This record gives sequence, structure tokens and C-alpha cells, in this order.
Amino acid sequence: MSTPEQRKRLKAFYERSSATHAEWAERGYQYPPPKTEPFPPDLIGLECGAKTRAGTPCKQKATYENGRCKWHGGCSTGAKTEEGKKRSAMNGNCPKKKRSHRG
Ligand SMILES: [Zn+2]
Repeated sequence: MSTPEQRKRLKAFYERSSATHAEWAERGYQYPPPKTEPFPPDLIGLECGAKTRAGTPCKQKATYENGRCKWHGGCSTGAKTEEGKKRSAMNGNCPKKKRSHRG
């Protein structure tokens, strides 16, 4: 079972490590690689903990950076770029409409 506090610390840890990695990428991956902080030992094997349809907490341990599993990560928030929004708009209820990307 994961608490919101643990998931917050997990997110913060991943943010710090990706910042370190981005800095290393900026240097062109020069040797030696940067020192990374070790994974917090109390966050190893952190369970998803989301409420399932049965009402029990989810026990999945394979979690993403947000601390949730593949089923409980939340819905997609949709297309972000203008091109993506246009493309998704073409998937509407007008199948006979000429699609612009096919010319
Ligand atoms: Zn889950």
C-alpha cells in the first residue's frame, strides 16, 4: 500500500534523477557519468494502492513514475499539439469526409 506522501517522494526522486541525466546529456554524455543518488530503500516494491473495483487496494508493484500501475495511471489527457488536435478531430462521426492528410 502506498501513501500519497510516498508517491510524492517517488516523483521527486525521478524528477531529480532525470534532471541529472539531462545535465549529462547536455555535456554530450562525457565520461565519467554523473553520480546518481541511490533509489530510496523504503520505496522499493512500492505497491500501486489505487482503489480497485472490488474496493481493495491494488497490489501491483510494477509502477510508473507517478507510483501507479499500468491500469491505474489515469486517463490520457488528449492531444497537446495543434497537429495532434487536428488529427484527432478527423476521427469523428464523418467517415465520408475527405481527410486532409491523404490529400
Ligand atoms: Zn494499480
